[in-house]
Amino acid sequence: MHNKNTTVYYANSIAEVGMRLKNIAGITIAAGCTEIARRQSGKRLYFPDQVVSIARIPELCTINKTERYLDFGSAVTLQNILNLGRKNLPDILYSAISGIGHPGIRSLGTLGGNISAKGHRLTSFSPLLALDAKLEIRTAQDSMWIPISRYFSNTGKEGGQSPQYISKIRIPTDTWDISWFRRIGKPGVIGDNSASYSFLVKLQKNMLTDIRIAWAGRFFFRQKEYENLMIGRTLPLTERDIQILLEKADLFFDKNLFSAQYEQQCILNLIEESLRMLM
Ligand SMILES: Cc1cc2nc3c(=O)[nH]c(=O)nc-3n(C[C@H](O)[C@H](O)[C@H](O)COP(=O)(O)OP(=O)(O)OC[C@H]3O[C@@H](n4cnc5c(N)ncnc54)[C@H](O)[C@@H]3O)c2cc1C
Repeated sequence: MHNKNTTVYYANSIAEVGMRLKNIAGITIAAGCTEIARRQSGKRLYFPDQVVSIARIPELCTINKTERYLDFGSAVTLQNILNLGRKNLPDILYSAISGIGHPGIRSLGTLGGNISAKGHRLTSFSPLLALDAKLEIRTAQDSMWIPISRYFSNTGKEGGQSPQYISKIRIPTDTWDISWFRRIGKPGVIGDNSASYSFLVKLQKNMLTDIRIAWAGRFFFRQKEYENLMIGRTLPLTERDIQILLEKADLFFDKNLFSAQYEQQCILNLIEESLRMLM
C-alpha cells in the first residue's frame, strides 16, 4: 500500500473488469474492502495505486439455486447469503458466515473477498473446501471452473500467469447427516491463530458413505486419501478405530507446513472430537 492517490474504477460489467485487468498492469480487485481495511492499523486507509471495484456488478451480486448447486456471485455480501436462511444453505456454511466479524462487516464483506484474502485462509474457507466448492475464474479473455482445493495452494502460488479474479462460487446442495463447524481463536476477529474446522458426514443406515474433514488457517488441510480410510465403515466406531485413525492422521500432515505443535494438536483434537460423534 502506498501513501499516494488511488484511482478507483467502479466496473459495471464483467467485460469492464476484463478490460481493466488487460490494460492496467498490477491493478487490484476490491469488493467490500473490509479485509483490505482490516490489514491496516493507521488512522488513514491506504489503497493500491489502481483499484477496480467489482461490488456494483449485478451479475457478481446474484445468487442462483438449482436442484444440484448454489451459485454465488463473488461480490454477494455475507449478509445477503445469511438472508437466504439456514434451511436454504449448507448448515456448515451458515454457521461459518454467521460468526464472521459483526453485522456491519457482514453487510459489506463478500464471499469472494473472504476466500481471496492473502496470506491466511479466512473463516469460510474450510466449509467451502469440505463442500467441494468450485470457483469460476475469469481472466480478460476466458473463464473456467476450478475446484477450490486446486486453485489455492499452501505455498502461495495460486492463480496463473494472467491477471484473474473469482467471479462465482459454486456449492453442491447435498444434504449431510452430520455438519459440525468450529473456529479457533477469538470469535468475530482474525488473528495469527485464527482457523476453522469443518466436518461433514453422510450415512446410509449405519454405514458411513461420505466424510469430509477440512481445516484452514495459516495453511489448509484436506486429504481425500485420509477420508477414504473411513468411507464404507459401519458405525458405531470403536475406541480402537478412533486411535488408529488418529495415528494415521499424522501421516497426512505436511510436516513442512504444519510444523507448529500448537496447530497440529488443534487439528488432531478436533478430528478426535468429531470422530467421537460416530461412536
Ligand atoms: C473488524 C473486522 C472483523 C473481521 N472478522 C472476520 C472474521 O471473523 N472472519 C473472517 O473470515 N474475516 C473477518 N474479517 C475480514 C473481512 O471482513 C472478511 O473476510 C470479508 O469477507 C472480506 O470480504 P471483502 O469483500 O471486504 O474483501 P476485500 O477487502 O474487498 O478484498 C480482500 C482481498 O481479496 C481480494 N479480492 C476480493 N474479491 C476478489 C475476487 N472476487 N477475486 C479475487 N480477489 C478478490 C482483494 O484484492 C483483497 O486482496 C474481519 C474484518 C474486520 C475489519
